[in-house]
Amino acid sequence: MTINVSDIFENVGEYPYKAEISLEELKGLKGFEFISPISLDILFRNRAGIVTLEYSAESELSVKCDRCLKPIIRREKKSFEHVMAHSLANGDENDDYIVVPDYVADMTEIALTDILLEFPSKILCTDDCKGLCPVCGTDLNETDCGHTHSED
Ligand SMILES: [Zn+2]
Ligand SMILES: [Zn+2]
Repeated sequence: MTINVSDIFENVGEYPYKAEISLEELKGLKGFEFISPISLDILFRNRAGIVTLEYSAESELSVKCDRCLKPIIRREKKSFEHVMAHSLANGDENDDYIVVPDYVADMTEIALTDILLEFPSKILCTDDCKGLCPVCGTDLNETDCGHTHSED
């Protein structure tokens, strides 16, 4: 989903949008199994010519516990904020800025970049997940196979 922001850059004010990233669009993401569309609650603001983008993204993913590999559903609502710029001076690289040379904000790309960047590298089904036995692979949350008593 793209939003043309040229009017927003020209006129001071607040510009709310709602958007959705469809499952179809989310399919191509390797390693991330979204189970519902991502819904975006978007607010562009032009304050004295400075354009900011604030939005929240609600997502629902199926992930595997890092220790026991059990599938878990992870629901998240996260907020992000950026400053929009038509161009950056001196070719500055700055992740806080979103540069829109053609005044088109690609919300799909912006939101997916933000969400995936913040995604934790380790996810556990419960904080004290016991994981799998390194010897026989038994799920230690369910069965105590007796292999791990000597460790620790
Ligand atoms: Zn687990
Ligand atoms: Zn075992």
